[in-house]
Amino acid sequence: MAAHDPAAGESLRTLPGDDVRQILWRFADRFDLQMVVQSTRAVARGPVARLVASGGRNSHDWTPGKNELLRAYDESGITAVFMDPEQGGFIEGPKNLALALVAFELAWVDAGAATGALAGNLALSPIHERGTKAQADHYMALAAPAKPGEDRKPWRGAFCLTEPLPYVGVDTGMLSGKATIAEWEEGKEPVLQIEKRGRFITNMGFANFVTAAVDSADPRLKGSCIVILEEGDPGTFDRGTPTRKMVHQLSSTSDPIFSLRVPASRIVGGYEVKDGVIVPRWDHGEIIEAVFKRTRVGVAVMTAAKLLSAVEPVIRYQRGRFRGAEQTKPGSLRHELGLQQREDALHRLTDVWATGEAAASLAFAAARLYDEVDPLERRKSELLAQAGVGGGRAEFAYLKKVNERAIEYLSLSRLPQGERDEARLLELANDELVRFALVDSEAGVLCPAAKLWCTGHGATVMREAVSLVGGYGITEDCPGFLGHKWMDAQLEATYEGPEAVQRRNLSVTMAQPLFLEQLRTWAGELRRIAAARPGTGACTLATAFRLWLWTFDHLTTAKDANGEKLYVGPRQGVTFRLADALCWLLASRAQILDLLELARRGPESPLAGEGLPGLLEFLGDLCHVQAAAAAGEVGRICAELTYGYNRHPAWDSEARSVCYAAEDLEALEGIISGMAGCATDVIGEGGAHPDKAGPCASCQGLHDFAALRMKLDGCLTGAQLAKDRAAQALSKVMIPEALDYPA
Ligand SMILES: Cc1cc2nc3c(=O)[nH]c(=O)nc-3n(C[C@H](O)[C@H](O)[C@H](O)COP(=O)(O)OP(=O)(O)OC[C@H]3O[C@@H](n4cnc5c(N)ncnc54)[C@H](O)[C@@H]3O)c2cc1C
Repeated sequence: MAAHDPAAGESLRTLPGDDVRQILWRFADRFDLQMVVQSTRAVARGPVARLVASGGRNSHDWTPGKNELLRAYDESGITAVFMDPEQGGFIEGPKNLALALVAFELAWVDAGAATGALAGNLALSPIHERGTKAQADHYMALAAPAKPGEDRKPWRGAFCLTEPLPYVGVDTGMLSGKATIAEWEEGKEPVLQIEKRGRFITNMGFANFVTAAVDSADPRLKGSCIVILEEGDPGTFDRGTPTRKMVHQLSSTSDPIFSLRVPASRIVGGYEVKDGVIVPRWDHGEIIEAVFKRTRVGVAVMTAAKLLSAVEPVIRYQRGRFRGAEQTKPGSLRHELGLQQREDALHRLTDVWATGEAAASLAFAAARLYDEVDPLERRKSELLAQAGVGGGRAEFAYLKKVNERAIEYLSLSRLPQGERDEARLLELANDELVRFALVDSEAGVLCPAAKLWCTGHGATVMREAVSLVGGYGITEDCPGFLGHKWMDAQLEATYEGPEAVQRRNLSVTMAQPLFLEQLRTWAGELRRIAAARPGTGACTLATAFRLWLWTFDHLTTAKDANGEKLYVGPRQGVTFRLADALCWLLASRAQILDLLELARRGPESPLAGEGLPGLLEFLGDLCHVQAAAAAGEVGRICAELTYGYNRHPAWDSEARSVCYAAEDLEALEGIISGMAGCATDVIGEGGAHPDKAGPCASCQGLHDFAALRMKLDGCLTGAQLAKDRAAQALSKVMIPEALDYPA
């Protein structure tokens, strides 16, 4: 049992409900999104849950039961969330948050259903992002569910990039799919011959159209492109055999083969003819980048949802574990608390919950950010056109200047009032391109970070959730389908680009000067948050941000023991690990910002009389727990990278020369408290040294790091007390009698 903390105030009464989530994830004022949540939940906890409970996942085939879900998605409005009102949808403006909420509700029960419901959007996304208006109007209208009185079946789509080995996987440039020109009569639309094989293609069991990536195998067609293939096109449209996957069985996956003739007007985004050569407006890489940066956020949300969905079933299992036994009398601690008498059970569940909150906060922050990016991106294109800036190098140079203005804006905004040029600050704040640069730079990091951390680390923590229900966890009977969810999380970490792809993206986007300036600004903001709300872990996190920034700066200039550069693309041991560390920071920061929003808006909502103080205290403790975990990861990774590339010396004269002499260290200790502890090998009087293999790295050149690292350890103050308080709250929180979906 967690130790009682006399400082603990009011405690958590019930599990956070919709009113809390709406504030945390910023849709309390969006009734359209609240309706989407309710109708998606009815499908998730109704037909989807019943299908899983009745063993619907036990087949690789696309069964009538699974097919019925498509109708449920259409009738509930899920299918139309992606579309604009004039295309048959019902949500005005950007829809990233709306789609993230759909993913959350479905994955709360089964992420395969979420994938099945959203994969059609993935097929439409190349057309939505880069298609011509005619293409978008045509395929959106076909894919929209039938309106009342309309007698037609909506078209379903699949997105086909991945190819059989040894072609496209992580490396999307290795295309074997080919396009050639089959016919090109004077004055007529050219006809293309498309040869494409796919591997692991979602929705292929029933798709009517496919957006497929192909490369040119014809000198009259330039580069690569994405083409739209239809079921009725002349040639072979072979859906292939179902993939024998062990996860996401409520979605359809197979390895299709296409050999089709299609008009060149099916090239996504159109083309122009230059000197007798067809030049697609967009190559497949440009389109994929635009597509994935949005759709990956939804995948991150899926794993976050399953972590949070695990809390209630685990609490119920833990509490009821010994009830009914002869030795367990009602009213006894064993009867009331069951496994929750044990501190470890509560602490581990606290970790699962804290991770789930941080994952959801990060993923929803990314979704909201894309809702800002979408209109600003369009505005950017308009402004560039007005300024007469074409694509390519001219655009790059122009945007570089915009980024410089954005950096100026951030550094000005960090200065205290009275010390800065307010007129210039206002001018920059009103500059739409500066605004675009800021959100674009943040989104470029938040999307891969969310996909990487929520799914990859989420899968690891999902295993922890499974372990908390013992053997039951790895059976199909486990309430909340936790075993399925654990396995499913591994697919979420893999498809739409596995972890290596996200790390590779991050190692580029996080190293941009504008993003680094944003990080510095956030570190300062966290300090201010810590002053106003101590106990949220914001202070710990601010120091961890500074440690990360120090390490980044160091690694971009330092060399290893062999004189080789450290922060360079091929050194994934450096770049990828720093990317991992950054994700922990971003998730924890997003969680704290959500808590602040609840503290700000909670009192004016119906929550005010419903135990808001206890809820804030509990969620604040979860923030603290998560910030401490983040600080631990960041400290460890940064220390390994900072010291680990120095060669471990022997006790020779050269090595002795870099060691501290005991008397020097004593003097330094007076200046930097704790220095003596950071220097591990010290030459004592008469050259004596500790009895070990050799002098480890001294702190030379790394004093700031050592001081920051030491400070970070000190910043963990109170984190375990927060965990104890959260654990105690977990042992008291009220939960419903039964889960609201079948097992
Ligand atoms: C159920 C399911 C559904 C899917 N649906 C679709 C779909 O609808 N459409 C579609 O096009 N694809 C789909 N995919 C394919 C999926 O996107 C790919 O499996 C994924 O992108 C990884 O490609 P790969 O399997 O070829 O892995 P590989 O490319 O072989 O990579 C294997 C591992 O090697 C490592 N690695 C690879 N390259 C690098 C590198 N440069 N640096 C460091 N490490 C590296 C990574 O750790 C990676 O995880 C689906 C897959 C599954 C399993």
